[in-house]
Amino acid sequence: MTVERIDMSEDGDRSFTNVIVSVGSNIEKERHIPEAIRRLRRHPDIVVRRVSRVFESPPVAGPADAPDFFNVAVFVCTELTAPELREELRHIETAMGRVRTEDRNDPRVIDLDITYYGGSTEEFGNWSVPDPEAATEAHVAIPVADVAPEWIHPLSGLTTKSIAERLEGNEVEQIMAIRLSTPYGLRSADDFDEVGEVYAPKLESLVREQLLEIGEDPDREGLARTPLRVAKAMDFLTSGYSTSLEEVVNNAVFDAEGAEEMVVVRDVEFYSMCEHHMLPFFGTAAVSYLPKGSIIGLSKIARIVDVFARRLQVQERLTNQIADAMGEILEPHGVAVVMEGKHLCMMMRGVQKQDSSMITSAMRGCFKDDARTRSEFLDLIKN
Ligand code: ZN
Repeated sequence: MTVERIDMSEDGDRSFTNVIVSVGSNIEKERHIPEAIRRLRRHPDIVVRRVSRVFESPPVAGPADAPDFFNVAVFVCTELTAPELREELRHIETAMGRVRTEDRNDPRVIDLDITYYGGSTEEFGNWSVPDPEAATEAHVAIPVADVAPEWIHPLSGLTTKSIAERLEGNEVEQIMAIRLSTPYGLRSADDFDEVGEVYAPKLESLVREQLLEIGEDPDREGLARTPLRVAKAMDFLTSGYSTSLEEVVNNAVFDAEGAEEMVVVRDVEFYSMCEHHMLPFFGTAAVSYLPKGSIIGLSKIARIVDVFARRLQVQERLTNQIADAMGEILEPHGVAVVMEGKHLCMMMRGVQKQDSSMITSAMRGCFKDDARTRSEFLDLIKN
């Protein structure tokens, strides 16, 4: 059986499970398939090892004029359990605008399913691994066989390659392998080497150059996977560039007629990187608004902070951007944001008092114009 577990040396006994995730779309699929792969690659708990070619197939059922699908299979490894991974895949679907309906033949923006989870065979209520479709549906089996031909189906003992070859019928004939060329850099199976642990080749080679330049040996054991890790970390830490406010807010703005009380959220942790040195600065934010008919879920405020923090920043601009975003989303009577951050570029280089922190604020609307509102807010965020 193939419960391949690879050891990521830095983490001692933490173990990763190899997983095949099947991805499908038949709405703006040229855009959505690469975006889903990009989101998987960017996920902090998922390492994408290989991606299959892209296969086009007609819908299995439903109206005859339903648009064709693109299907790919993605070979990933993760420490997440199968239910945890499934939850993360659902989050990606939701962030991309998928609305799950009862009708399984509805056209869909994106579909992300666990097809194989290591060698496990397990039932979880209304779903199971391996996905039963892995053995019966060509649009699932063919991309899987493309990305992991020697993977053994844990129930039948057959390789995915022989499962794909055994499937017969219309669907197989109509499936054709096509290549996508997109600005998102979707890579075909050929671009991944056998080890398959390439993440962002260009960034990785730059990190390797950098290691050489500072006099290190990028081939010594401790550094061998460092370019990969740095590329992944960098991708995550700058993910704000490719995250839209709409997907973060995602319909969590509610009408609240008559809600006129000041809303204050404090101690929201943030982590960002200064644009001057690309070193971290981090701290806490206090965000407040005086509603004018609309309120937003509190957890969304932390997500909005993240969207702007996960970029190269200066703290002043970060503070302003959060305030402007809150204003744009809620159109409240006013917004206030106060951030307190420690900057490693100052602390590590000893150019300023080592433990000093920087405080920035942005006041909009009534927080700017009305001293009483402002001082009420400032009182509320005092420790
Ligand atoms: Zn700096």
